[in-house]
Amino acid sequence: MKYISTRGQAPALSFEEAMLTGLARDGGLYVPESIPVMPESDIAALAGLTYEEAAFRVMWPFLGESFGEAEFRAAIGRAYAGFGHPARAPLTQLGPNHFLLELFHGPTLAFKDFAMQLIGQLFEVALKRRGERVTIVGATSGDTGSAAIEAFRGLDAVDVFILFPHGRVSEVQRRQMTTPTESNVHALAVDGDFDACQARLKDMFNHFEFRDEVRLAGVNSINWARVLAQVVYYFTSAVSLGAPHRPVSFTVPTGNFGDIFAGYIAGRMGLPIRQLTIATNQNDILHRALTSGGYVTSGVTPSISPSMDIQVSSNFERALFDAYGRDGNAVAQLMDELKGQGGFTISQGAIDILRETFASGRASENETSAAIATTFAETGEILCPHSAVGVKVAQEQSVDTPMITLATAHPAKFPDAVEAATGQRPPLPNRMADLYERPERVTRVANDLDALEKIIREGRAS
Ligand SMILES: *Cc1c(COP(=O)(O)O)cnc(C)c1O
Repeated sequence: MKYISTRGQAPALSFEEAMLTGLARDGGLYVPESIPVMPESDIAALAGLTYEEAAFRVMWPFLGESFGEAEFRAAIGRAYAGFGHPARAPLTQLGPNHFLLELFHGPTLAFKDFAMQLIGQLFEVALKRRGERVTIVGATSGDTGSAAIEAFRGLDAVDVFILFPHGRVSEVQRRQMTTPTESNVHALAVDGDFDACQARLKDMFNHFEFRDEVRLAGVNSINWARVLAQVVYYFTSAVSLGAPHRPVSFTVPTGNFGDIFAGYIAGRMGLPIRQLTIATNQNDILHRALTSGGYVTSGVTPSISPSMDIQVSSNFERALFDAYGRDGNAVAQLMDELKGQGGFTISQGAIDILRETFASGRASENETSAAIATTFAETGEILCPHSAVGVKVAQEQSVDTPMITLATAHPAKFPDAVEAATGQRPPLPNRMADLYERPERVTRVANDLDALEKIIREGRAS
């Protein structure tokens, strides 16, 4: 299995190379050359398996020669051993035919642990085999950074630097990034919003001299290995509810489009998904793009679901690549327009394809709070604000299949918004109850490429 860039210029890579590289050198994102289809009988056979075994079977066809079978199984085992629930991704029921997929039982209480814990284990195996060392730099709106730090802390072959928007992440998110004591972990508070952090990260990847000097590696949601890890829970949840014999639908709280793109891949692999719904908060560029055909940036408005506060949705480029018939030049041109003019118009042919594939909806701040309050009153379930955006949008859909809404974070990660809506302050799970007492370590830095590169050069172990 080879991986090709959405902009058509960078060389094709193996799974391992694409994982270690992150962003392609032409600025594009790696996607598999073709999507392996899983026969219906293989999907049916996932029923009743452990999460780990299902994960192996779903991901294995994408790995090519990169890892051995036993090596990959062992990495999966280590990745999910620290989760606080034996099912890893359990389903609960919210209403008639409406289910919540709880993706918040990992070490940092958000779905990003599913991908990040695995990628940490795979990096370790690959780098040890190669005798190499890399510098991981990530940009985060909160949850990616803590998940990355948790996955890579203390590993020998990796330094981790995480850029987060100063003052715009929740206290729990910040503390999860600033309290680990391992010397290979560095939290950088950038004076700017998440899009600024993401833009500086892209600048570093496009500054080849720096990129090669520090052996830069990326683990943002553009990393294909992360998308792949997220495909698994679409299968396990759908199979629990009767797939492949009965189709299901999903609603996915969406920011950078990584999680929902994993659902799209699951569908391409043969999982019968009737409807795949993008749920956005008030930062609704994706909902507007699908509705109007214009992908137009308009500045970020901070919300109570901060991990979805973005205006440039990186992984959407992968969906565009397919919608444009895998024409890398067309995608490169759109991305140039985005950079130069702040937006682009999606062609009629491509928007038709996107609308066949995705539905969409948005939730305002008030609607999000109301969804937390009513869900609590009706079911006793406490939702985080991101999951509440999903639940609100899911309730507006009319589908004749089970609807599975992805619960992307634990409510204790966003206690202020949850308390305002329900009057209840959700406690942290016992295993991290002392988070508020641990000392913090963080470097404040300007939204400036040179300043960031200097800190990274000097902060590395080698
Ligand atoms: C990252 C995140 C999202 C958005 O996921 P994408 O893959 O960026 O679309 C939603 N909710 C939570 C809690 C997150 O951490």
